[in-house]
Amino acid sequence: MIRVYKDPDEPKSLAAHKSYSGDDVVRQLRADQRGKCYLCERLTVTDFQVEHHKSQAQHPDLVYCWNNLFLSCAYCNNKKSNLFDNMVSPTGNDIETYIEQRLDFDKSKAIFKYIGGENITDEYGETISFLERVFNGTNKLRTEREQLFYNYVLSAVNTFQKMVVDWLFAPTAELEDAIRQSLDIGKEFLGFKYWIIKSNSMLLKHFGDCIKWNREFV
Ligand SMILES: [Zn+2]
Repeated sequence: MIRVYKDPDEPKSLAAHKSYSGDDVVRQLRADQRGKCYLCERLTVTDFQVEHHKSQAQHPDLVYCWNNLFLSCAYCNNKKSNLFDNMVSPTGNDIETYIEQRLDFDKSKAIFKYIGGENITDEYGETISFLERVFNGTNKLRTEREQLFYNYVLSAVNTFQKMVVDWLFAPTAELEDAIRQSLDIGKEFLGFKYWIIKSNSMLLKHFGDCIKWNREFV
């Protein structure tokens, strides 16, 4: 999960308060989020929903609020439901900086750790609980669907990890290009990839310029 920059102008159809998922809303969210689910960072094609960051059930006043709308995949939307209403807002917070995101290959688990100081805020705590549920499953054993989801993440992050290890041993221009492309703003799982880059001083020195995904906005 990473920070999201949204166009400050709300799509016109929201003003009428009739629908929160008009085509102009979908188009703008897809553009702002590069077609990715804002929660798990998977690319979506048609399997997305317009999601209320603070749920409709608990916050009926925010149903048509542009700042509360995001694109999410159905998998994440189902997990979130109205159970996680106090998560960090993805706009205005560098989530990728304050939550360490990595995969423990031995334990077959995703690890999320708050590194913003000794005392974790309630919002970050809830965000981490949610991410654990998405990536590791709701119960101790993953369901078939949860395992399929994890396998997909594992394969993508593993491919990236292998590329950077290969580059460390034999830094070719071709590999460098592939790594830079894989860190492009529109690519999947940047939260995990950034932390792989940050885990090694050589990688950080060489690819540090690619891991500030919001660079074009500052
Ligand atoms: Zn998702």
